[in-house]
Amino acid sequence: MQAQDIHAVPPDPYRAWFQCIAGCPGRYSLKEIIYECPRCGNLLEVRHDLDLLRKKTPEYWKDLFDQRLMRTQWPYGSSVWGKREMVCPEVEDANVVSTLEGGSNLFWAERLGNEIGVRDLWVKLCGNSHTGSFKDLGMTVLVSMVRQMISGGVEIPAVACASTGDTSAALAAYCAVADIRAVVFLPRNKVSTAQLIQPIAHGAVTLAIDSDFDGCMALVRELCTRHDIYLANSMNSLRVEGQKTVSIELVQQFDWQVPDWVVIPGGNLGNVSALGKGFQLMRELGMISKLPRIACAQAQRANPLYLSYLKGFDDFEPVQARPTLASAIQIGNPVSIEKAIRTLKDFDGVVEQATEAELADAAARADRTGLFNCPHTGVALAALFKLVERGVIHKRERVVVISTANGLKFPEFKIQYHEERLPEVASRYRNTPIDVPADYDKVRDAVLRAIEGRS
Ligand SMILES: *Cc1c(COP(=O)(O)O)cnc(C)c1O
Ligand SMILES: [Zn+2]
Repeated sequence: MQAQDIHAVPPDPYRAWFQCIAGCPGRYSLKEIIYECPRCGNLLEVRHDLDLLRKKTPEYWKDLFDQRLMRTQWPYGSSVWGKREMVCPEVEDANVVSTLEGGSNLFWAERLGNEIGVRDLWVKLCGNSHTGSFKDLGMTVLVSMVRQMISGGVEIPAVACASTGDTSAALAAYCAVADIRAVVFLPRNKVSTAQLIQPIAHGAVTLAIDSDFDGCMALVRELCTRHDIYLANSMNSLRVEGQKTVSIELVQQFDWQVPDWVVIPGGNLGNVSALGKGFQLMRELGMISKLPRIACAQAQRANPLYLSYLKGFDDFEPVQARPTLASAIQIGNPVSIEKAIRTLKDFDGVVEQATEAELADAAARADRTGLFNCPHTGVALAALFKLVERGVIHKRERVVVISTANGLKFPEFKIQYHEERLPEVASRYRNTPIDVPADYDKVRDAVLRAIEGRS
């Protein structure tokens, strides 16, 4: 028996392809290097052969996904690859590059929910993952497809992305796992120290550029077009396929019940589109019978979607994004704008925004109930508070907030908050260490005073 027979898999009967989101005719193989419709320039999306998927019952799929989740059979323990028939059937198991992504916990925010009167409040902790953000969910699909193409003889010298910090961390890690060259473009001084050190540690070619995300994006696009370097930004819709599993997984965690609301922070708007795509697929296959409503949350300093929402999505104008603590969503010209607007229309969606003070206080307030939030999750929580206050989200409803990154990636944000060093932020929930000499009486006095002060 030859060694490669071990990896031989029966031909996968499921099929998927790229197709234009504006409905132009033409299907393109997932193995083609193509990001935009050659006819109209719009983004592409991955379509699945639903007739093939419908040959199995909804119960079959739910049972299958439940059996695989977080078990040991490679690569199905990954919540992305455990759903591979609906994600990316074109990659052979031997080419999957996975860190067993997904399976992140759904935190019952009981205390925070009680504070705001929403009893059924949950936070999906997508930042509890290999590189500390939800970007792993999409990157595993993209890098696996690159490995599939390379194994088929395609020459890909490197994979590159522009990033606000988390995409580059994920790209660098997955490329390191697969021994593929990674190149990341970062806006200088606009990502956290933790985010900067991740691609460096993984050996990626790391460029710090005197520009913002939108500027880095323009540069990396040009480089990729001219030099056959594979582009890993979310205009590459393979990432959306992996990210859409977050909606399947969270419904799975509720024993296949659909929540009433999902609140999600948005920057480039790939994730809000991905979330919607997962729910729509489940409904088309009969796995769920209703859709949630979606609330997209933006930082006020980078709010082009919010401004368009105020005008009923009649038109859209990019903005110049201003510096925000929510640095991963400091994007003025989101690439997935059309997909996101379509999603929000289909999901009876709303858009809300948060100021710097609102996002920082919301993150800190929720930290006091046991969470440890990144600033982007702070944006989503601030939006939640406002929507509940205005009665848009009703107190009886089941609400899931998507936490997009781990708070540990943003220590500067946390420290400066509690030291009252953030501009425009009054740090309502600050907590500061007490300096005391090593003297029992002084220590006792300090502790007792502090404990009383709390009650
Ligand atoms: C990428 C990112 C977002 C925004 O996701 P989009 O798909 O660009 O809208 C939000 N939060 C964090 C932590 C991120 O890394
Ligand atoms: Zn088109």
